[in-house]
Amino acid sequence: MTDNKAARPRTNPAREPSHAAASAAAPPTVGFVSLGCPKALVDSERIITRLRAEGYALSPDYAGADVVVVNTCGFLDSAKQESLDAIGEALAENGRVIVTGCMGVEQDRIRAVHPGVLAVTGPHQYEQVVAAVHEAVPPLHDPFLDLVPPEGLHLTPRHYAYLKISEGCNNRCSFCIIPSIRGDLASRPAGDVMREAERLVAAGVKELLVISQDTSAYGVDLKYAASPWNGAPLKARFLDLTRALGSLGAWVRLHYVYPYPHVDDVIPLMAEGHVLPYLDIPFQHASPSVLKAMRRPAAQERTLERIGRWRDICPDLAIRSTFIVGFPGETEDDFTQLLDWLGAARLNRVGCFKYEPVEGAPANAIDGVVPDEVKEERWHRFMAAQQEISRSLLAERVGREIDVIVDEVDEEGAMARSVWDAPEIDGSVFLNGCSDVKAGEIVRARVLHADEYDLWGELVRKG
Ligand code: SF4
Repeated sequence: MTDNKAARPRTNPAREPSHAAASAAAPPTVGFVSLGCPKALVDSERIITRLRAEGYALSPDYAGADVVVVNTCGFLDSAKQESLDAIGEALAENGRVIVTGCMGVEQDRIRAVHPGVLAVTGPHQYEQVVAAVHEAVPPLHDPFLDLVPPEGLHLTPRHYAYLKISEGCNNRCSFCIIPSIRGDLASRPAGDVMREAERLVAAGVKELLVISQDTSAYGVDLKYAASPWNGAPLKARFLDLTRALGSLGAWVRLHYVYPYPHVDDVIPLMAEGHVLPYLDIPFQHASPSVLKAMRRPAAQERTLERIGRWRDICPDLAIRSTFIVGFPGETEDDFTQLLDWLGAARLNRVGCFKYEPVEGAPANAIDGVVPDEVKEERWHRFMAAQQEISRSLLAERVGREIDVIVDEVDEEGAMARSVWDAPEIDGSVFLNGCSDVKAGEIVRARVLHADEYDLWGELVRKG
């Protein structure tokens, strides 16, 4: 699910394939601004891949672009405002702007603020975006197909990539308008997902980040139909796909999973090291009445018991989650239940957001608006409680030898991540003084020190 991370803006210089060659004639250039969640990022990657295949060059700045595409986020009102601001900036800096993405469904609102945009398209409307680019800046006659690597173009660093296994969502959480924007669940055939994953791994990707709106629902819409992969049928089933992905030799990290009973089946794969011992589960709350008002999936599951059983099978399992405080109707008693639950669950990584009404969401009609100062106060109490949990869990890692993947290296050392940390949203493992490693390398490190977010360690060995 998209949840609150969708509000996080991100603007990425597109990563060019290393073997890209300069063309004789100057190709038309496109600037790209990608806002929102990893799912929107994958949409951006698909659009860029297609444009690059047609011979367009990518510009890292506004000045060098013939046209700028802004992929917007429309999840929260604050995200919409950031999208409008980004469109305004692109118009001011470049003047020729095409808008796409989740906020594209609100064409009138965009045009009311920015009448000068060339075109507005919605999420997943790849053909329309590309057609709008053609209209604005025609492609050169000969497409430079050889400039595009088989794995496509990605906005992430070379060593990790998001792998989107489905679009849309069958849930109807009362605070969310994603299903009305992106539609019902539409899973990709398992063979299709696996071929993309294989291409990524062959291109040097070391970590696959599996995403969707509801990863545990994968394949429900396809009735789990099998599709060919590697000379055999592979079912579009969460467990089967996870196992197949785990066979590729890369780290596999599962995001946006709900605690349904069938998720139990993947925990042994984590315990055996086939996929990372990591689950990103957006719980959002723990009070039954708030979860009911939120209409959350798997709200009836006994999550504490389930988490306890998972940890019995895989003691190293890290769980990350997001929560909302101040949802309409949330009482002090509901909030206390949430804090108690948090203390019992001892989740490894947690994000917390103050409830923000989303235009068009059913939750707006729920009575009991929580005043801003109460939201603020609950947010601080929540974060203080989680910080203590996180500090104590990370302290338990001190002294251990762990595998880490290197994200960045400079003259002062390396910034890496453990199997328990996803890029961008979780913590880091700092290897001070260790500059003799490369981004994407997986090395062994000994943990020397911890705070409430990050670890510090020393290199034990490479490879
Ligand atoms: S409806 Fe619920 S599960 Fe689906 S995308 Fe929205 S918040 Fe996520």
